[in-house]
Amino acid sequence: MSIIVVGSVAFDTIATPAGKVDNALGGSATYFSLAASHFTDVRVIAVVGDDFTAEHENVMKKRGIDTRGIQHASGKTFRWGGQYMENLNEAKTDFTELNVFERFQPHIPAEYADTKFLFLGNIHPSLQAAVRLELEGVQLTGGDTMNFWIQGARQELIETLKLVNILLINDGEAKMLAGDNSLPRAARRVLAMGPQALVIKHGEYGATIFFREGAFGIGHHPFRAPTLPIDEVKDPTGAGDSFAGGFMGYIASQGHISREVLKRALFYGGVMGSFAVERFGTERLQALTRGEIDARFQLFRELTHLE
Ligand code: AMP
Repeated sequence: MSIIVVGSVAFDTIATPAGKVDNALGGSATYFSLAASHFTDVRVIAVVGDDFTAEHENVMKKRGIDTRGIQHASGKTFRWGGQYMENLNEAKTDFTELNVFERFQPHIPAEYADTKFLFLGNIHPSLQAAVRLELEGVQLTGGDTMNFWIQGARQELIETLKLVNILLINDGEAKMLAGDNSLPRAARRVLAMGPQALVIKHGEYGATIFFREGAFGIGHHPFRAPTLPIDEVKDPTGAGDSFAGGFMGYIASQGHISREVLKRALFYGGVMGSFAVERFGTERLQALTRGEIDARFQLFRELTHLE
């Protein structure tokens, strides 16, 4: 089944120990949709400015992504600048220029109305909530956020979390959101804010899914999936969104939730995150094949599987 993502389409300026790029196509919706497109049909809702060309849009169209929900506004596209030091799991934001996002009113194409799966990518939590509330037929909503909104729009974020079934954030964000430095306690506190399940990403060390008691009727023991350390991380930007794209894209492709589906989704999330970081920007995600994805999934299984 198809999935809608709302999020940022951006031009990123990134510096990592492996190099530097200026104005590379990025954004939460871009990484998410490229990753999810390897699993299911993806529909995007976002806003871009005059500097976003047909060539940029073709990066998505070539992967079969439905871009009818990308609005073109006058002004500049969202821009983000960040850098990574030796600890590649944590980005330091240099600048965030909202640009066309400042006046963005999401408009959802009529053709998207029957969609059952939704991902609220990293943008202002009020925009996330507006899209969720307009899409009345949605059955499962995943969501993401970051320190920028946890600190800058906390109240709006708390409201949005009530609309999210599965929240995906990293260790640092979970602790910041919960105001608690113990990960299991932070997880319980975040789950009490609304989501039935919480995926906490541990960067290169994998991810853990925590459940609220009774969630999805599948038992509440947490489950962890690995990622395989790769030789050289060129650019960690988009790892989280690509993880979310693999995770949610796989769930949407199955059309239902079970413990087994969620476990496999967590593995596919790790697979897509690990590919994203191998090259700068979205390059690796654009060129991937399903064969490469399944081969790495198999590697991850062998890393942890006990006969
Ligand atoms: P991640 O997957 O967490 O590495 O997300 C990276 C992407 O998030 C980059 O391509 C940025 O353009 C985008 N981004 C960074 N800050 C924000 C923000 N405040 N709102 C929306 N998108 C953002």
